[in-house]
Amino acid sequence: MTSLSVTPAMQDALAWLDDQSATMVAMVERWAHQPSGSWYDDGLAAMGAIVRDAFAELGGTYEAVEAAPGQTVTDAGEAVAIRYGPIHRFTQRTHAPRRVLLTGHLDTVYPEHSPFTRCRWLDDTTLNGPGVADMKGGLIVMLHALKAFEHTPLAQGVGWEVLVSSDEEIGSIGSGPALDAGAGRAHIGLTYEPALADGTLAGARKGSGNFTLVVDGRSAHAGREFEAGRNAVWQLARAIDALYALNGQRPGVTVNPAVIHGGSANNVVPARALCRFNIRVRDADEQAWAEAELARLVDRLNGEDGFRATLHGGFYRPPKVLSPANRALFDLVGRCGETLGVPIAVRDTGGCCEGNNLAAAGLPNVDTLGVRGGHIHSHDEFVLVDSFAERAKLSFLILCAFAQGEMDAALAATPDTAPAATKPEARR
Ligand SMILES: [Zn+2]
Repeated sequence: MTSLSVTPAMQDALAWLDDQSATMVAMVERWAHQPSGSWYDDGLAAMGAIVRDAFAELGGTYEAVEAAPGQTVTDAGEAVAIRYGPIHRFTQRTHAPRRVLLTGHLDTVYPEHSPFTRCRWLDDTTLNGPGVADMKGGLIVMLHALKAFEHTPLAQGVGWEVLVSSDEEIGSIGSGPALDAGAGRAHIGLTYEPALADGTLAGARKGSGNFTLVVDGRSAHAGREFEAGRNAVWQLARAIDALYALNGQRPGVTVNPAVIHGGSANNVVPARALCRFNIRVRDADEQAWAEAELARLVDRLNGEDGFRATLHGGFYRPPKVLSPANRALFDLVGRCGETLGVPIAVRDTGGCCEGNNLAAAGLPNVDTLGVRGGHIHSHDEFVLVDSFAERAKLSFLILCAFAQGEMDAALAATPDTAPAATKPEARR
């Protein structure tokens, strides 16, 4: 691995980012104190305004993109429409020969009335708080990397698009089409989920599907006409057993029945029951296999006298399998780390994020370029504050290396990613 050549302008920008450390830490405290749970509309609006003002300093254009409508199944088994918050889109030089998509989210997993609303210092370098790592800290890293980049002459050859969604923690259903479209306009993707505390980045990611299986039977009095009933709870229990039996049949597939609802009273044969479950898969073949098994199960249930089964949901995040271009991008990130004296390790994970969406749309991407931190999705969430400048410098160098043409050969060699100068404006 060879280090990158660092120009005097880049050297100045790196020094500037070091100077911004305290500013970034103060900023994450302010941002974390604005609650923005995925379902908390007012919080998302307030956080959106904060992000919009901060990114306006980059001098690009801004647009709020409406999220696609979604659907959920209530605990009573009824499908109802749901709306998601907007996607905040910032762009600069969209017709430049090299284009990068940067993505992040402003929602957190902490709901409107969560008691976890304040930051707390655990020691000199560890800040505990809601969203400090996942991913308000990451957005701040992205913002400062772009600020530094815009001050170098290299920026003139690169167009960038930033997409900040409001629904990542609930699956990016509403922002999925915007992410897909953005991926189609860019050559590489950078996403700002937190790295592990030791700096390790996520490599390949499993795909994830969320489903709800609703089984309808027939209600009857449990004493007077038990035989006339069709017990939906029993039929669902059998179906859950069949679902669970899919575990271990393919190496990367796991099936997790997670929530059940059904029935009303002990003297009533239950007419309806449902199970919510999650399936993880390693690649497209495993996903196709799991989908075929689900279809078979639903067919079998619908063939049973007096029962009806309805399956809702799907693989909202396809598996992220590393393409040759994506591996080349990881190599480049490794070289940027080496240039900074920061070793970059990569490890595959069963978790998923927007990086899955970008990969499924054919965009090579690295999705854990945010801060170093841990215990995310819990009240122990923390960020290591010395990682703000470190990670902003890493992203800055990735942008510079991309501008210098370091990725062109890898992109040109990959069929789903046309060479920088000739890629059409939108693939889909
Ligand atoms: Zn996140």
